[in-house]
Amino acid sequence: MSKASKMAGKRRDLAIGIDLGTTYSCVGVWQNNRVEIIPNDQGNLITPSYVAFTDSKRLIGDAAKNQAGVNPSNTIFDSKRLIGRRFSDASVQSDIKHWPFKVISGPDDKPMIVVQYRGVEQQFAAEEISSMVLMKMRETAEAYLGTTVKNAVVTVPACSTELQRQATWNAGVLANLNVIRIIPEPTAAALAYGLDRKAAEIREDDYNVLVFDLGGGTFDVSVLNIMEGFFDVRATAGAAHLGGEDFDNRMVNHFVQEFKRKKKKDISGNPRALRRLRTACERAKRTLSSTLETTIEIDCLYEDIDFYSTITRARFEELNMDLFRKCMGIVEDCLSEAWNINIHSVHDVVLVGGSSRIPKIQQLLQELFDGKELCHSINPDEAVAYGATIQAAILSGQGDDHEIESFLLMDATPLSLGLDTEGGVMTVLIPRNTSIPTKKELVLSTDLDNQPCIRIQVYEGEGTMTRDNNLLGEFEFSVPPAPKGVPQISITFDIDANGILGVSAEDKTTGQKMKKTITKRFRLKH
Ligand code: AMP
Repeated sequence: MSKASKMAGKRRDLAIGIDLGTTYSCVGVWQNNRVEIIPNDQGNLITPSYVAFTDSKRLIGDAAKNQAGVNPSNTIFDSKRLIGRRFSDASVQSDIKHWPFKVISGPDDKPMIVVQYRGVEQQFAAEEISSMVLMKMRETAEAYLGTTVKNAVVTVPACSTELQRQATWNAGVLANLNVIRIIPEPTAAALAYGLDRKAAEIREDDYNVLVFDLGGGTFDVSVLNIMEGFFDVRATAGAAHLGGEDFDNRMVNHFVQEFKRKKKKDISGNPRALRRLRTACERAKRTLSSTLETTIEIDCLYEDIDFYSTITRARFEELNMDLFRKCMGIVEDCLSEAWNINIHSVHDVVLVGGSSRIPKIQQLLQELFDGKELCHSINPDEAVAYGATIQAAILSGQGDDHEIESFLLMDATPLSLGLDTEGGVMTVLIPRNTSIPTKKELVLSTDLDNQPCIRIQVYEGEGTMTRDNNLLGEFEFSVPPAPKGVPQISITFDIDANGILGVSAEDKTTGQKMKKTITKRFRLKH
C-alpha cells in the first residue's frame, strides 16, 4: 500500500493519551513533532487521582487532595483498586479496611462508594469516580489546546482482566471520551522508550526491555521483547500493595517511636497527628532521593508539642531494606518466567513510577543486572502517558509528522499462531502479519477410540514442526468416550483489538466450552 493511501484511511481527529493512575494521572498530546505532557490548572504535570464531595461542590485532582485532611470520608482515592472488581473480592475487602471512605456492596456484588454530597447521601461506582478523573484530564487537555477533545488512548495495568478493561472503557464513555484504544501500562512505557531509542538513532531490530514500575501503591514488572517494532509482553509480575506509601509508613513508625522516646507521648491513636507526620515523611523521603540527610519540622504535632528531627538516607534505607529486596525478588521471578530472556539478555531496564527514583532501589537493580546502566532518559512520572500519547498520535493519523513516521502502527500478528497437531506438526490458524482483530476456527477430532481428552498446545512461529516454534500456552479439553474421529472439537483463536489472544475449545456435540487467554502482543511499525 502506498503511503498516501495509508494516510487516506486514517482518522485525523486529535487524540490524547491518558495514564489513569492509582495515585496520579497524566495526559499528553502529540504536537510540534513530539509528545507534550500537559500541565493542569495548578501548573502540575501530574494530577492526583482524587475526587472529593463537599456540601457545595465536587472537586477533582489537586483541589480534592488538598482538602483530604479536613474531609476524609468524602475524599475518594484509589478508585482504580476497585474498578472492575467485586465487593467480595479478597483484595477489595482488604483495601476497604485502610480507606477513610465507605464502600458497600451494591447490585451484583458491585462495590459502591458512599459519600455525602450537597447534604445528601450518594453512591458512586468506581468507574464513575474514574470517569471524573478522566474528565479532568480531558478538560486539562482542552484548556491547553483551546479546542474540544473527543478521542483518547487510556492505559490499564498489565494484568488487567477483561472486566477491568471494560470498566475503564465505560469510565471513558462517562467522561464523554471516545476511547480509541486501551493499552497496558508497560507497553506504553516501552513505546515511550522505543521512540526515545529511535531519537537516539539506536537501530537494533530485536531487543529485550524490562519495565520496572514502582509507584505509590503498586509495583509492576514486565519483560518485553521488541522485534522489528512488535511489542511482545513475555512476562509480568508484581505486588498489588508495594510502593511509596509503604516506605512512608516505615518512616512514620520510626518517628512515632522517636516521639514516644523523646516526649513520652504516643501519637499512634491520633489520626490528625499521624496524617501531618505522614505528609512530612513523604516530603522527606523525596528529599532523601537527592540529599543524604533531611529534617522533619512539625509545629504543635501533638498536645502543643513541636516535633523537630532529622533522618539520613542510610536510616531510611535500613527501615525499608526488606521491601526493597522484595522488589528485587519480584524482578527475578518475572525474568524466570519470561520465555527465552534472562538477566544477561535484557538490553535495557526502564524505570517507571515515582518510587523508582529512590537511589538504593536503583543501586540494587543495577547490581542485579551486573552493573548495567539503567535507562534514565524518560521521566518516570510521565513514561506511561508519553507512550499512550504516541499510540494516540499513531491511531489518529498525527503520525505523519516525521518523528513517528516510521512508527506507523498496523496491528498485526508478528508470528504465525497455530496448534500442535498429529506428530508435532504446526497447524497454523492465524498466519503471521494477519491484521487484528481477527478470529479463526479449526475443527479437530480424536486420534484414538475413547480418547479422554485433547491437548491444546498453542504455538507461535514459522517452523513447520512445533518443536521449532515457541509454546505460548496449553490446556486439556476433556472429551466424552467415542470412537476415534467422531468428536468434533472446534478450536477458536480470537485476537481482540487490544491484542489479547483468547483460545477457546467447544465440543460441537455436547456444547461444552473452555477458554484460555494466552498472550498479549502489539505491533508498532510497518
Ligand atoms: P506514581 O504512583 O508513579 O505517581 O508514584 C508516586 C510515588 O512516588 C509516591 O509514593 C511518591 O512519594 C513517590 N516519589 C515521587 N518522587 C520521589 C522521589 N524523588 N523519591 C522517592 N519517592 C518519590
